[in-house]
Amino acid sequence: MIKVFVIDRVGPRDAIVRTGPNSIRIRQHRRQATMICVSIGRGRHRHVMAEHRHLVEQGAELVELRLDYIKGEVNVRRLLHERPCPVIITCRRAREGGKFSGTEDERLMLLRSSIAAGAEYVDLEEDVAASVPRYGATRRIISYHDFRKTPDNLPRLHARLAAMDADIVKLATMANHPHDNLRMLSLIRDAKVSTIGLCMGDIGTPSRILAGHFGAPFTYATFHHERALAPGQLSYQHMKELYHYDDINSETALYGVIADPIGHSLSPQIHNAAFRHQGVNAVYIPFRVPRANLSQFIEDAKVLKIRGLSVTIPHKESIARSLTKIDSAAKGIEAVNTVVFDGDQVVGYNTDCKAALDSLKQALAEADAGAAEENPLAGKSALVLGAGGAARAIVYGLRRHDVQTTIASRTRQRADALATRYGARAVDWLSRNKVSADILINCTPVGMHPEVDATPYDKHYLKPSMLVFDTVYNPESTLLIKDAQRHHCHVVTGVQMFVRQASLQYRLFTGRQAPADVMRDVLKRTIGPVKY
Ligand code: NAP
Repeated sequence: MIKVFVIDRVGPRDAIVRTGPNSIRIRQHRRQATMICVSIGRGRHRHVMAEHRHLVEQGAELVELRLDYIKGEVNVRRLLHERPCPVIITCRRAREGGKFSGTEDERLMLLRSSIAAGAEYVDLEEDVAASVPRYGATRRIISYHDFRKTPDNLPRLHARLAAMDADIVKLATMANHPHDNLRMLSLIRDAKVSTIGLCMGDIGTPSRILAGHFGAPFTYATFHHERALAPGQLSYQHMKELYHYDDINSETALYGVIADPIGHSLSPQIHNAAFRHQGVNAVYIPFRVPRANLSQFIEDAKVLKIRGLSVTIPHKESIARSLTKIDSAAKGIEAVNTVVFDGDQVVGYNTDCKAALDSLKQALAEADAGAAEENPLAGKSALVLGAGGAARAIVYGLRRHDVQTTIASRTRQRADALATRYGARAVDWLSRNKVSADILINCTPVGMHPEVDATPYDKHYLKPSMLVFDTVYNPESTLLIKDAQRHHCHVVTGVQMFVRQASLQYRLFTGRQAPADVMRDVLKRTIGPVKY
């Protein structure tokens, strides 16, 4: 007799497993879109179950129940009875970052009884995997943790874990170097057994967001950002609403921002919202890249097939060494805030300068309908406060537009150096209020949250004819902007500049016109205390 099996949609990485003489099972190693597994760590059963129900209402498809967080005797059957979605049962010892305080025998008994109760997955550390045998349909996650480092030989470690009758291998290791992300993601991509590889800490965040892109069956998130169960774990809300993890697949184009520290960058919010709005299959990720790791990171970015990066402190100058081409404005400013990977070329741009100058031109054109159309800045004078990176981009632009420019900076030598370089004039910080200028531009952080009652310029010197531009964008209505409005000056806010520079980046990244209104709305909503 000839048996015919009709097999629908078996990918190249799926395994066909013979489970009996006449039957086969297809073990999926890869899914196009992957899931978020949300970890629940609460002390009481009823809180665990309430969080579980709440998460499923929010769309969660898989949760990890951390038995080690439960205080007192654990009742596995109660947790699994009428569970609203599949679960992973995990019970960690202190050495793997867990809270279990009972004996090892008690812990193993809990794991075995979870399997007997039909949990969909059980998480077993390597050393106990052999003593908790496979039973029923429960799938085995064989896990490894290292809270200090990402070990050198990941493939060898992976092979050891896979050999423990693993359905899924899980590695969670501390990232001390951005290159650890690439090593972990490459391991997921090349593994024959379904693999979850997560790097911990804020350097490791990209591995959590990109796990699915490289073929992991799921990534882990926490119920709430204030209750991370592992260092660097993102919240479920963050994963879904900011990174749209469910939509990331192997085709998703990768973008990001590099900085150190990375914590307060608003760029992921606005670029991801823009991708979403336009239906672009792309994700924008925060990469914390320490100064010493920059050139290695750019090599890694090529391997990861990253298409574009925003660049911020402390890399705006040093990134030049890793580029093959630099546009003329970025060269003139000696600072790059945007990198585009274009075939073999790594090209640097500066969108801050154009964003600031376009904002000024628009405000002047609106203020003076008779202003020269092609250069409303012609014949104007400007006073720039500060002599750092933002000032450099703006002074470069002003001088290219023949604006008579005066620079006042707290550190006089920095003002002198900038003035000499671009053909401007420098004055003492203390005499800034006495400089007469058509345009006043604040390029210092004075007035920025939380110092919102500070202003870098005495309001008594403001005149209604002046255009006042504050580059500070958090808050948008700085004291300087409020003073200027009260004195009937025209104003340009830091939000206007920020949205323009991001829109220009978006255009360089995607070739599309950015949805500036969407970006502005998201920025305004996000400004202020971190929401997630
Ligand atoms: P930066 O390179 O660190 O330069 C800061 C400048 O401000 C320096 O000249 C510094 O003087 C001066 N300064 C700092 N604290 C001061 C104080 N309390 N009183 C007087 N002067 C002070 O920073 P940056 O990259 O140029 O950024 C400056 C500001 O621009 C940021 O706060 C940000 O809000 C804004 N910005 C906005 C955008 C946008 O898109 N809207 C883009 C980039 C920057 P010293 O040399 O004496 O320290």
